[in-house]
Amino acid sequence: MPVLSNPSEIAREALRLLASRRVSPSPDNYRALYHEIAGTPANEAAPFPERELKALLASLPRENAQQQRLLRRFEQAFKGKSWDELKRGLAELFAQLGKEQDLPWNQLFGDFLRQWESKQAGLTVARKREALERVLAGATGNSELLFARLQGLVKSWSLNASEAAEMPLVEGLAAVAEAANGSPVSDQVAAAHALQTGALAAELSSELREIFAYTLEGLIPTQLADEPDLVADAKALAHKVRTATSRAAMDGLQASVKRFAFRLELLAEDRVELRAGLLKLLQLLIENVGELVVEDRWLAGQIDIVRDIVSGPLSIRSISDAESRLKEVIFKQGQLKHSLNEARESLKQMLAGFVDHLAEFADSTSEYHDKIAICADRISNAEDISQLEDVLAEVIRETQIIQLNAQRSRDELRAAKQSVEDAEKRIGELQADLDKASTLVRHDQLTGVLNRRGLEEAFDKETARAQRRKATLCVALLDIDNFKKLNDSLGHDAGDAALIHLTTVIRETMRPQDTVARFGGEEFIILLPDTSLEDAQTALVRLQRELTRRIFLHNNDRQLITFSAGVTDFRPTDTQGSVSKRADEAMFAAKQAGKNRVLIG
Ligand code: GH3
Ligand code: MG
Ligand code: MG
Repeated sequence: MPVLSNPSEIAREALRLLASRRVSPSPDNYRALYHEIAGTPANEAAPFPERELKALLASLPRENAQQQRLLRRFEQAFKGKSWDELKRGLAELFAQLGKEQDLPWNQLFGDFLRQWESKQAGLTVARKREALERVLAGATGNSELLFARLQGLVKSWSLNASEAAEMPLVEGLAAVAEAANGSPVSDQVAAAHALQTGALAAELSSELREIFAYTLEGLIPTQLADEPDLVADAKALAHKVRTATSRAAMDGLQASVKRFAFRLELLAEDRVELRAGLLKLLQLLIENVGELVVEDRWLAGQIDIVRDIVSGPLSIRSISDAESRLKEVIFKQGQLKHSLNEARESLKQMLAGFVDHLAEFADSTSEYHDKIAICADRISNAEDISQLEDVLAEVIRETQIIQLNAQRSRDELRAAKQSVEDAEKRIGELQADLDKASTLVRHDQLTGVLNRRGLEEAFDKETARAQRRKATLCVALLDIDNFKKLNDSLGHDAGDAALIHLTTVIRETMRPQDTVARFGGEEFIILLPDTSLEDAQTALVRLQRELTRRIFLHNNDRQLITFSAGVTDFRPTDTQGSVSKRADEAMFAAKQAGKNRVLIG
């Protein structure tokens, strides 16, 4: 039989064979003959049941992602008319059905209940409920996914909460992305765990977003008091942070943050420059004021202190200290200048008056002498008594004039003397005013530390600060030991120098934030903010050691200065009086116990 290749010739030959072999003309017999003639195996050529399969696929459910995925797979197989692909899909479906039946739900529910009822650090019931709702919503209609996600959730609860919180955000996000890409069914458990981690990461991300927004609108503006534009930008950025949920918005946000950061950098540079400029200006001013007050030891000392403060590391406290000292310098200078001008004016007037009177007197007396000499001449040349009468009359007249002049000069000198006395009195009154006004001064004139008035102010400031910050504040009272003996043996000036030496050592040993004040003759108070009682005692003991190291020298003789001190802490019900009293009692106890020690009160 010739091999035919044309389908219509094959079909015709098949019909002919059906008739000649007398077999019944059924489709199967026709198909068998057709393949016999075409030389193709009969089973391979079974027609693809396109119509039936299409109807079948249309009737399958497509309610969840997994069903849709499987259906897509069947449709692909249908399009490619691939029995093999269909077979693989069906096998997977059956395998999955088997696995699903094997899922240990009872064990999972047991674990779930245990974790739900037990407490985990950082997890409230509300948070757990929220996470559970998220898992349930994300796995509708897919029991295996639900199983895997629930398992992941239970596992994350059982993990140490802090460990979960430390899961890097990027890893979590990557896990979400992977899970969303649709990994094979066998990877679903891992993906579900990743989704759970992702949910945690998303939660963290939203918290971080909120913190960043708060930083922008709550914290940054506090640093931008004079920059309303930047404050407005910070607030707008905060809004962007809260609403940037898409990739594009995130890119835009990143660019805005960079721009904002750049502007902040510029501002910071400006501020550094401004600060340096102001400091330079202040230093210049201080140098010049210093030149003007070289003759007043106290003023010069104050200026030196301000200079030291300005050249050291600056703080609000040091600036306010410098300001109060400068105010005193300005105040005292103003007073001194005023009295000096008054005194100078009176002296000038007095001298001018004297010079005028002397000149007048000299003029009138020399004229008188000249006239008397002429009269004497005329007397000696007179030839008769009548000529003498005229001369005598002239002498009497000239003498009367000079007498009047002398009297007038005396009166005027008296008046000048009176005005000098008045000026002296005015200067005296000014001096008294100055003394009275100097009670307004806050620093002790001998040692330069705060006086009692300054201490009162510092005390108010420090207690308010401690209460505001809920910080500790300690108060130490120290009294020099046997100071009377030192005064009596070496003299009052040596005593003064010893007081200056002590305050210098105190200032250089204590921290810059500690306040030193002269409380009385040889008694000092030190305020120690942010310090515990034990630390305050240690600081005072360190000061004792420092005093032994930096010994006081008088006429090249080494004089050891020691002190006794009481330390106490400021309590909520304390006043300045009560806390000083407690420190004083502790100091007294230290004296009683043998001096040169620090006791807590
Ligand atoms: P104790 O160890 O018990 O404290 O004895 P003390 O001698 O230190 O104490 P007392 O209170 O008996 O004497 C204090 C002395 O301090 C008396 C006073 O002359 C002296 N004093 C007070 N103020 C000054 C001052 O400004 N300069 C000088 N040089 N001495 C002063
Ligand atoms: Mg005393
Ligand atoms: Mg004393």
